[in-house]
Amino acid sequence: MHSQAAIGALGEKVKERWSTESIDPFRRIFYPENRAMNVPLRSWRNVADGPLNPNKTDVADPANMASTIKEVARFLGADLVGICELNQAYVYSHTGLRIDFAKGTGGQEIHLPHRYAISVAVEMNYRRMRYAPCWIDNAEVGLGYLNVGKVAVALAAFIRELGYPARAHFFINEWVMHVPIAEAAGLGELARNGILITAPFGPRQRLATVTTDLPLAIDSPTNIGVVATCELCRKCAENCPSQAIPHGEKMEVRGVLKWQLDQEKCMRFWVSNPNKWNDCSRCIAVCPWNRPNVWYHWASVQAVKRSFLARKFLLWIDNIIRGRKPRPVVKWLNYVEGGRNARTEPKDN
Ligand code: SF4
Ligand code: SF4
Repeated sequence: MHSQAAIGALGEKVKERWSTESIDPFRRIFYPENRAMNVPLRSWRNVADGPLNPNKTDVADPANMASTIKEVARFLGADLVGICELNQAYVYSHTGLRIDFAKGTGGQEIHLPHRYAISVAVEMNYRRMRYAPCWIDNAEVGLGYLNVGKVAVALAAFIRELGYPARAHFFINEWVMHVPIAEAAGLGELARNGILITAPFGPRQRLATVTTDLPLAIDSPTNIGVVATCELCRKCAENCPSQAIPHGEKMEVRGVLKWQLDQEKCMRFWVSNPNKWNDCSRCIAVCPWNRPNVWYHWASVQAVKRSFLARKFLLWIDNIIRGRKPRPVVKWLNYVEGGRNARTEPKDN
């Protein structure tokens, strides 16, 4: 969608808004803009893949190697890590990012024969995500991309130093779809809002993937009660400013039963708001799973997994405490909402 917006597939007005340099310096350092040297993620594309150490490490026990790789990923900064076999249905057929076209490599066929995918996630800050949609959550999302991209690049390099091929896939360098891979690797479940929800952070993490041939034991998909919660809750759909999230039942999309986001509506909102931010995370901010990672969140997660009544009760509590249509709060650095005065800080922080 980002690339479609950039090349004019969503109309000239969207193209102009998406391609015009941002007024926000965080936007300019976290996302591709005019001065490439000021966007660290952009230069990491060059080290996403690389040469192999000719002295290959023997892997006698893939389960042991999987434990080691997970520990290395956490050492490098991952908050969550899981492993699955790489399903070729989750590999893009062609390069299609705006940055690919800018570099003259757009539209090329992708061959990614790696056997495994390692999914890594990094938490985004609870308080800053609650501001959505505005420049503050936009900066937090950009930082999430940077942090998780760093983990993926370093982990792929570590594996290549063991003598096995590995490629880091991260924001502006993806050949794979992170969400279904993360779901297959047991990190969490796909929710109504089209986002992966995990037990510790709800929808509040950024994902990256390392694909490799290093022999690894794989994880299984998990059921933490997300889909069961989404069947009772429509908070993201009710709060979505563009009404891109379905209120109804799941539908079959290319053989998969899921709630299908209207990505074009979502993207049009991102670029059409009068305050000129280029992002929106409202569906993350309002989700009842989006809570600080503390004891009462863990108690709720355990209850939600087990009981229909607990799900009903906790959704009711969330509506009482945070409101059915919670208003974003805006006060961080010098940011104010749309140039107007800031409202107050969140009370429960
Ligand atoms: S807000 Fe409710 S319906 Fe939407 S993803 Fe979260 S739990 Fe599911
Ligand atoms: S990002 Fe914003 S516009 Fe897009 S689906 Fe989520 S709430 Fe709706």
